[in-house]
Amino acid sequence: GETVVIVGAGQAGGELATRLRQQGSEGRIVLAGDEAHLPYQRPPLSKGFLLGKMGRNELHLKPQATYERFSIELKLGARVERIDRDAHEVLFSEGSRLRYDKLVLATGGRARQLSFPGIDTSRLENVFSLRSIADVEAMHGQFVSGRHLVIIGGGYVGLEVAAAATQLGLRVTVIEAAPRILARVTGPEVSSFIEAIHRGHGVDFRQSAGVQGFELDESQRRVRRVKLTHGGGEEAIEADLVLVGIGLIPNTELATQAGLAVDNGIVVDEFARTADPDILAIGDCANQPSSYTGTRVRLESVPNALEHARVAAATLMGKQEPSTATPWFWSEQYDLKLQMVGLSTGYERCVTRGSIENRTFSAFYLKEGRILAADVIGRPADFMAARKMVSSRTPVDAQRLADESVPLGQCAV
Ligand code: FAD
Repeated sequence: GETVVIVGAGQAGGELATRLRQQGSEGRIVLAGDEAHLPYQRPPLSKGFLLGKMGRNELHLKPQATYERFSIELKLGARVERIDRDAHEVLFSEGSRLRYDKLVLATGGRARQLSFPGIDTSRLENVFSLRSIADVEAMHGQFVSGRHLVIIGGGYVGLEVAAAATQLGLRVTVIEAAPRILARVTGPEVSSFIEAIHRGHGVDFRQSAGVQGFELDESQRRVRRVKLTHGGGEEAIEADLVLVGIGLIPNTELATQAGLAVDNGIVVDEFARTADPDILAIGDCANQPSSYTGTRVRLESVPNALEHARVAAATLMGKQEPSTATPWFWSEQYDLKLQMVGLSTGYERCVTRGSIENRTFSAFYLKEGRILAADVIGRPADFMAARKMVSSRTPVDAQRLADESVPLGQCAV
């Protein structure tokens, strides 16, 4: 049989390896990853795992025994340095080589770092980012009640950490460059609702704020203050620790070096293939055509990693099963469960349904009278309906949509 080598033993790579066996693949499957852990879920890293409510083993996608039973060769703690397309080999940093017939890049991404002239931020002992188990383990000891945590970046990861940290008794300030938190992914109604929830838990915000630099202590290894410009003035916020949550950089270097197209992610077709028919790319690192937007997208979510692994497994089994899934995502902050479906970019109008005061409402994003996306808070039944309406771009009557007494199913026109 053929040898499939998967680089990146994360959410997408782990799913793909087991799926291939379940679908009857009989060749050699090697799952190689540079982290020392079995493939694991990242969402709890900023939630239950950070809070200490979940242990490492509970993060694993599958127990070790499953990989053994499926004859999936795990090569963990092993970093792939280079692809040799002519020889059909990958080269590991320790010097070994591995031949492939099919190669799947499932390399995810890394946290974007801040950089200031003259400061090597990666060497600061109280500045963190959050992508891996190792990142959380490095933070754990410093997440001590009473300390002041400054979070740079008001996206989902930053806000989830804010929620966890206040629950652990830390004081938290969130610094956001845009005029409001979550500006890239949600409408102003939802941003201000979430901001209010955080303020209710004591979180402080600086929005439209630009981080200018760090003031270090005598050791030059710790940040003492975060310097910002904000509201026309300057401010230096005392910090015991800093979390930088300013987005992700896709790990595309292997593809670039191998001469494959990269454009905000490794460029693949609807079957997850790069221009080299023997090399595929999936998950956070991949830029794929979306049947939902009609454009290319690079998505960063567990549902996308799983769906993309499904598409790649089909391709590797000689079938063609492009994705028709509508992107969706979730977040948990305090006792709130947020579910989002679709991408609201370019919406014309937001219609809310339910009670913002009671913390159970849905925000529907409309474009040309049709539902483009929805954010649902504490209304799981709405979410089920919203997924269908977003997927089919249902044309709706906005007045009925806003009226809870009209069942969602009867809001179509
Ligand atoms: P990853 O899971 O990142 O796996 C990639 C793996 O490849 C990594 O282990 C990496 O170290 C390895 N690798 C990279 N380069 C190499 C190399 N050269 N050689 C060997 N190995 C390599 N999504 C949601 O849907 N809901 C959530 O609530 C949510 N919360 C999140 C919270 C946090 C803190 C984070 C970080 C992410 C969250 N996500 C959430 C996003 C989700 O976890 C990712 O979209 C998902 O993990 C992507 O899977 P992946 O396999 O593409 O990448």
